[in-house]
Amino acid sequence: MGCCFNCLKSDDAEPSFKKPLTEDTNRSPMPQESPKALSPVDLNDFIIEKVLGKGAFGKVFLVTKKDSGQVYAMKSLRKDMIEQRNQKIHTKTERQILGEVNSPFIVQLRFAFQTPEKLYMVMDFINGGELFFHLRRCSKFAEDRTLFYAAEILEALEYLHMQGIIYRDLKPENVLLDSEGHVKLTDFGLSKKFFSGEKKAYSFCGTPEYLAPEILKGIGHDHAVDFWSLGALIYEMLAGAPPFYSRNRDVMFRNMLSKPAEMKSHFSAQAVDLLRSLLQVDPKRRPISTAEIKKQPFFSSIDWEKLKKRSIEAPFKPKLSGIKDLRYFDKIFTDEPTDDSVPPQTLNSVAKAANKYDDFTYAEVQPQFKVD
Ligand code: AMP
Repeated sequence: MGCCFNCLKSDDAEPSFKKPLTEDTNRSPMPQESPKALSPVDLNDFIIEKVLGKGAFGKVFLVTKKDSGQVYAMKSLRKDMIEQRNQKIHTKTERQILGEVNSPFIVQLRFAFQTPEKLYMVMDFINGGELFFHLRRCSKFAEDRTLFYAAEILEALEYLHMQGIIYRDLKPENVLLDSEGHVKLTDFGLSKKFFSGEKKAYSFCGTPEYLAPEILKGIGHDHAVDFWSLGALIYEMLAGAPPFYSRNRDVMFRNMLSKPAEMKSHFSAQAVDLLRSLLQVDPKRRPISTAEIKKQPFFSSIDWEKLKKRSIEAPFKPKLSGIKDLRYFDKIFTDEPTDDSVPPQTLNSVAKAANKYDDFTYAEVQPQFKVD
């Protein structure tokens, strides 16, 4: 469940690369790197240990930085595949957003660099696994556990929306749990940053089960798409499957556009009210802001000041024996060989793709994407 649609049309403006993308020591207490880590890095600086997961254009690895012994998650993106699917702008946007954001509920980028074949983004390793992993294990969550994740996700969305960013790919696979059980959003490959004057986006992208109706209709969309996806995710946490779900995608979309989501008998009245308000087909009938959502009775027990500081204890704390304990990652990935090379039959196109990237302005204005 949950494969991504590629964007068929890109509305997205060329992002500007204002912020340097070496390790950002101003913003987070997490890195245990010395100041010399501010110098650019490349692939040789890391030992690739395990595969953690797969994205649309490559793998995510558990890596150790050789000089510091610090463990990270390293996402590799194949340039040839980015080119084939016209995803240059979205890739640049992902890198830009990850480099800019500073929220305890969003994964932090530490380094970015490139080889002729690939782009690499090195992030903090979040070792509690995907919400998807835990949800499949439990089938569904109790309402208090759902409430906690929903509130922390809402906090992340509030932060993003205040920066003019719409996330556009909220789903259980993109919500990671840290070692304390708190939420971290990852994967900004479909996000959109609005520049001043821009009000709507038009890309057709997202993941079918969580896709807002206005994206499907292609009528233009804004931050309200994240409220729809939040509704779909909260529904899934409570019910064990997304609303409107059908194996047949056309049927699922028809259901979504034509009838209200079926509310299960075990949902509380507050959950039903919240879900009805978020899963409105007409985006204008959804809450206008995260502040409005926070006021709903479903969230009445949340102390938002405490939550912001991550001082509310998580209802589930991962049981980890150490930083490299991968028990919450799917064995399908962690048992895979860590080979990061591009298949030889694609080398011609890779060479072409690499050249195209070398012409790309961001290689010049963005020195951390080191051109080999
Ligand atoms: P992505 O392509 O960004 O969606 O990443 C694919 C998968 O890799 C995710 O669903 C996670 O399972 C894993 N992953 C991505 N980023 C991290 C991270 N910072 N820490 C741990 N695992 C990650």
